[in-house]
Amino acid sequence: TDPEGTVSLSVVGLGNYARSVSIPAIEAGDYATVSAVVSGDAEKAARVGDVHGAVPLTYEQFAEGEGVDAYDAVYVATPNRIHLDHARTAADQGKHVICEKPLEATPERAAALADACEAAGVTLMTAYRMQTDPVIRALTSFVSAGGIGEPTKAMGEFSFPVLAGSKGPDQWRLDAELAGGGALMDVGVYPLNTTRYLLGADPVAVDAMARASEPFGSQPDDPESPRFADEHVHVLAEFPAGTVGEFTASFSGDADSWLEVVGSDGRIRLENAFVPGGDRTVRVSTDVGEVEFSGVGMDETVEEFDYFAHCVLTDTPPEPDGRDGLTDVAVSEAVYEAAATGERTPV
Ligand code: NDP
Repeated sequence: TDPEGTVSLSVVGLGNYARSVSIPAIEAGDYATVSAVVSGDAEKAARVGDVHGAVPLTYEQFAEGEGVDAYDAVYVATPNRIHLDHARTAADQGKHVICEKPLEATPERAAALADACEAAGVTLMTAYRMQTDPVIRALTSFVSAGGIGEPTKAMGEFSFPVLAGSKGPDQWRLDAELAGGGALMDVGVYPLNTTRYLLGADPVAVDAMARASEPFGSQPDDPESPRFADEHVHVLAEFPAGTVGEFTASFSGDADSWLEVVGSDGRIRLENAFVPGGDRTVRVSTDVGEVEFSGVGMDETVEEFDYFAHCVLTDTPPEPDGRDGLTDVAVSEAVYEAAATGERTPV
């Protein structure tokens, strides 16, 4: 259906991703617009607001409800440990929420975020752009229709050399408090969430190993509070029906992202699986033969904001909802515990 109207968004946090990817994606789509921009830097808000014809606000003004009539929904793009505060403000204002991944830094805070939106009766979407990627959507239909038979295992990696970037060691991604962890929370969530989506199933238990070298910080030595900024993480996940998941993520070394799902009758391999922009390579091998497509897909982030706005306009619950976001944060809690104790940990 083609609904009437558009959803106007307040973009909260004018960081790298919001400015370079999300705002252009919102503007490129059909159903959402940018109508307010919120930043700790009033001058930046004014500058960005000017370019996009949006009301500039500071976090304090946003929290106090200034400019509240300018927007229908709030896009939260601040560091993970602050998502709850902004989402709560939005829910209290009766505004719908699209919140960046991971939903929050801990399961308690992620649950509080989902609960606040549910209690306020507003739509909440976790901004998992892989779930609006046409290639991933098509593969999910193929797998659920039995295209590769019974899925037996899924393997994937997302590694991104964060320290090699311009921000150096002093950044929130390496602050376990603000990020809720390290590589697992930032990039490991992609193979994990995408596999959950592709299989339509959630892990019941995990084994894990996580490590960090200077200047990433200390190792997990407190089983009671095992979250730390992991540089490398390796996860073995047990799904129902005995399907095995194996995921790895890193903040250093060679950048790479791929995903492979193996079934009783075939396998799917995705290269460039998780980078934004949709330029993916897919190879599907079954008893019938093998096909490979390169350079496929489209900008899934444009579709992500259009999908969210379409859900709001048609009062349809989005697929990547708050519970979906919470599940990954809960799995990550189990991963850090398994890495600290060396034991298989139920989710
Ligand atoms: P940046 O560091 O580039 O931006 C974060 C912004 O948050 C800052 O620029 C700042 O904006 C604001 N902020 C508020 N409080 C703080 C604080 N205490 N420390 C640092 N920044 C603060 O991060 P990203 O844009 O890369 O990431 C933001 C969110 O988006 C994260 O949740 C991340 O996981 C997610 N993300 C999602 C991606 C995806 O593909 N879906 C890709 C990249 C990130 P201001 O100066 O305006 O106040």
